Amino acid sequence: MSKQTFVIAGASLAGAKAAQELRERGFDGRVVLIGTEPERPYERPPLTKDYLRGESEREKAYVHAADYYEQHEIELMTGTTVTAIDLDASTVKLDGGRELAYDRLVLTTGSEPRRIEVPGAELDGIYYMRSLADCDVLRRRLDDSGRVAVVGAGWIGSEFAASARQLGLDVTVIDPLALPNERIFGAEVGGFYRDVHVQHGVEMLLGQGVEAFEGDGAVGRVRTSGGKVVECDFAVVGIGITPRTGLAADAGLAVDNGVVANERLETSAPGIFAAGDLASAWHPFYEHHIRVEHWANALNQGPAAARAMLGEDVSFDRIPYFFSDQYDVGMEYSGYATSWDEVVFRGDRGAGEFIAFWLSDGRVVGGMNVNVWDVNQHVQELIRSRRQIDVAALTDVDTPLDSLVTESTA
Ligand SMILES: Cc1cc2nc3c(=O)[nH]c(=O)nc-3n(C[C@H](O)[C@H](O)[C@H](O)COP(=O)(O)OP(=O)(O)OC[C@H]3O[C@@H](n4cnc5c(N)ncnc54)[C@H](O)[C@@H]3O)c2cc1C
Repeated sequence: MSKQTFVIAGASLAGAKAAQELRERGFDGRVVLIGTEPERPYERPPLTKDYLRGESEREKAYVHAADYYEQHEIELMTGTTVTAIDLDASTVKLDGGRELAYDRLVLTTGSEPRRIEVPGAELDGIYYMRSLADCDVLRRRLDDSGRVAVVGAGWIGSEFAASARQLGLDVTVIDPLALPNERIFGAEVGGFYRDVHVQHGVEMLLGQGVEAFEGDGAVGRVRTSGGKVVECDFAVVGIGITPRTGLAADAGLAVDNGVVANERLETSAPGIFAAGDLASAWHPFYEHHIRVEHWANALNQGPAAARAMLGEDVSFDRIPYFFSDQYDVGMEYSGYATSWDEVVFRGDRGAGEFIAFWLSDGRVVGGMNVNVWDVNQHVQELIRSRRQIDVAALTDVDTPLDSLVTESTA
């Protein structure tokens, strides 16, 4: 019997981790990992942090060492795009006209930056941040010092702003919301992050969007809806991402804010799976589909999809988790809080060392530890317990968090 071929479309974190898992589980068929970018798989978090600032080597960003793929007989095809899936023939088409038959296919095509649509958006000197190539261009811009306008105070914009400021640039952040990430975290935590940037000398133009970019060939000014004119040498736009669903949609797979998948990460087409930023997967704990645009999700969903491809029982129910580093403020967030009644704090907000808890009906639905470490596991256990919690104990730093976990899971 000829060996099976498992194809992975999208060679980034989710795809590379899926390939690794297949080999670690003893799959001895062909593993073909196909990616549009010229690079072997790498991780994106350093691109707004240490690598952007020139503090870490490029090599550190890669998921595996250069010889890993050959050593593990993973056929890595970089600079190659999957252009179509033929469900009847179980083949994928590649750019250049080649075709490849698959026994199982996993889509890990990720997401791409949302483009801003205002007058002047086509001017030179307006950048987006997604790839190593984007980052290399921006590293050179950061070497020139000067002034940068950052459009969007979400995580990408905020981290870029922090790094640019750390390198000594003049930075203005523009966002239509009153506070950074206000929609996701509310006013208290949004206010904390605004203050962090202000304390580091960033001009925060909040509650106003971009009306136009202006300049002669290249951007030189940003005009805001609040009537401000921000002079700049270049601009960086971080206004969210959209999942790259085109390939799946063209093949007729169910798509709804991502490629729809069940808890095994299998899409509406049997034998085809989805993982990472792209997947809108049924979450057994939350009992609806969720799409998570964060590193840990790609790291864990890729291997989970690989196990599902091998026919193992998979139920991907991890509590969403992500991290961010800005200046000397590191944080981890766990949960998926779409609504809450109150946010309570444990620790010292003024000193920037605290855990914020989002509570709904007295239950913890989200938790963010800021410059407090080794608590993330407890936060996740509190969320998973779904038990109503004693707020006085939760916010009392002298009550060990793990004792609350024991109590609430008892
Ligand atoms: C600058 C930056 C900083 C970040 N920092 C953090 C952080 O601090 N914390 C955190 O939790 N998360 C962070 N993230 C998010 C995290 O990096 C993403 O969630 C993660 O990269 C998703 O991985 P993925 O493999 O699903 O998709 P992606 O990383 O988007 O990779 C998809 C790959 O598929 C390729 N591809 C697309 N279509 C095709 C096709 N048709 N054929 C072949 N290949 C294709 C793409 O070229 C790409 O290489 C950051 C993201 C960025 C951009």
